[in-house]
Amino acid sequence: MIPRKETRQIRVGDVAVGGGAPVSVQSMTTTKTADVEGTLAQVYALRGAGADIVRITCNDVEAAQGLAEIVPRSPVPIVADIHFQYRLALAAMEAGVQGLRLNPGNIRNEAHIKTVAREARERGLPIRVGVNAGSLDKKLLEKYGGPVPEALVESALKEIRYLEEVDFTDVKISVKHSDVPSMVAAYRLLSEKVEYPLHLGVTEAGPPPGGIIKSVAGIGSLLMEGIGDTIRFSLTADPVEEAKAGRQLLEYLGLRERTGLDLIACPSCGRAEVDVIQVATKAQEALEAEGLPIQVAVMGCVVNGPGEAREADIGIAAGRGRGHLFIKGQVVRVVPEEEMVDALLDEARKLVDEGIEARLAAADANAAEIAQETKKQLVEIQGDANRTAERRARVAQIAE
Ligand code: SF4
Repeated sequence: MIPRKETRQIRVGDVAVGGGAPVSVQSMTTTKTADVEGTLAQVYALRGAGADIVRITCNDVEAAQGLAEIVPRSPVPIVADIHFQYRLALAAMEAGVQGLRLNPGNIRNEAHIKTVAREARERGLPIRVGVNAGSLDKKLLEKYGGPVPEALVESALKEIRYLEEVDFTDVKISVKHSDVPSMVAAYRLLSEKVEYPLHLGVTEAGPPPGGIIKSVAGIGSLLMEGIGDTIRFSLTADPVEEAKAGRQLLEYLGLRERTGLDLIACPSCGRAEVDVIQVATKAQEALEAEGLPIQVAVMGCVVNGPGEAREADIGIAAGRGRGHLFIKGQVVRVVPEEEMVDALLDEARKLVDEGIEARLAAADANAAEIAQETKKQLVEIQGDANRTAERRARVAQIAE
């Protein structure tokens, strides 16, 4: 487990953020908030993809009215996204939202900010101070010559002071930047200065795959340092992709329990006895449809596959027209190659139902022996790693 920086804990509805709570995943709807049914359908889809908290824009009166219908029917806490008009923050709270996001770059009036904070305090609601490099106060831009990390942090701290002056401390903070190194530097700096929980994100990351790579680089780097309590991938894509990617990142870093499939597959090489990409894609589709929370390996050859993927719960390795099904590295069944994905799916279901020990005990008596024989034949045909090493040594000798 990565050691985490101690932060104060706040609650967004029933989701705890900071103070040792599991890192949560956020996403944002893209529908018009006035479209209650359409927005709720997206909220449910986001929940299904792994979002713990969903943000919805509250950009006009109709949106605030929409929130009044959406919030009571939502399966997750709703945060209202507020820009420019502080009155919409008051309206969103009346609509029942579980939190607010304010942008200090466009709600600059101290009295307005304090009015919102007093009301949020009365209602026990948290506020995210959401600084964004793209909408930073002009004065700060002039002072620093651009949206540098120090400028983002100063903007956040100024807003926090206003909130603290009216005894409001149910705060989380974000200092998002579209440039990954600047984003990482801004959060590191902020983390040294405050105890409030931090909401991580690379803003305007763009469409996948670039947007996912930027988000993983920025958010992942900080999480590995123990910084960050809640995250959002800001992708130019269906928001379901954001929630999925955020959830997967946390699972891969061991920060959240696995709830779905983790498919590992070898990259394939000249030894592959099957089209690994095709088999892995087929297996992923079939297994994802089942929603089984296990790690599955698809390996191109039985020479190295079961050994290299011995940590996986279950896997399949090809060789000489057959699929070798293995559990924790031990080959338990051998099936014709064209049946390997079906056999994998069947065994995965049984594994989840019966457990690893029971499935190892039910292994075909001769499966390991067949796999060993196939491996031997393949090594004879292709050469093994030691022979390759000998050959490399001879090549080097000649070259010298
Ligand atoms: Fe190559 Fe086999 Fe390793 Fe896949 S498992 S990369 S096919 S050696």
